[in-house]
Amino acid sequence: MVTIGILALQGAIREHARSLEDSGANVKIVKRIEDLKDIDGLVVPGGESTTMRRLIDKYEMFKPLQDFAKTGKPVFGTCAGLILMAKEIIGQEHGHLEVMDMKVHRNGFGRQRESFEVPLSVKGLEGEEDYIGVFIRAPYIDSVGPDVEVLATFQDRIVAARQGRFLCCAFHPELTDDHRMHAYFVEMVEESKKTFA
Ligand code: GLN
Repeated sequence: MVTIGILALQGAIREHARSLEDSGANVKIVKRIEDLKDIDGLVVPGGESTTMRRLIDKYEMFKPLQDFAKTGKPVFGTCAGLILMAKEIIGQEHGHLEVMDMKVHRNGFGRQRESFEVPLSVKGLEGEEDYIGVFIRAPYIDSVGPDVEVLATFQDRIVAARQGRFLCCAFHPELTDDHRMHAYFVEMVEESKKTFA
């Protein structure tokens, strides 16, 4: 069984934990540097990216998180987590962890559409069709580099993507009972764990 950490500085931690456990993984709550030690993959949840960054800095987790991403273990960023993973953020001078080659638009769906649910087709998910995406002040991915695979779009905007061992989505997969996104990530972690054995 793989053990997946959830960065627990802010966001829907319990919901992610339940979705990961239902997908066959052990869960470890990550609050400090030492917690990154024994995990095979990491989820960076939604919340508010600037607040999360402040907390990451406060707990001196920035460098350890970047180092974790460099180890080759998978990372899954959802919503604000996606923003934290992007190399570029429109309107900001710098990104945060900068591990995925993509440019993101924070709050990209505008204020009048603060939150909404739409059916999506997500490449790579079992069945692919009719995955309900829950969007809350969501970002979208404006453009991606050549190594990034687009997994889902909504109104021509990219809302899920993968670059090797990095996975991200603009919506909240932990807020539905459909755990296919988490199952997809657990599989990525299982695959990667074989190479660490
Ligand atoms: N709008 C938030 C941000 O910019 C992300 C929202 C979310 O994670 N639900 O960080």
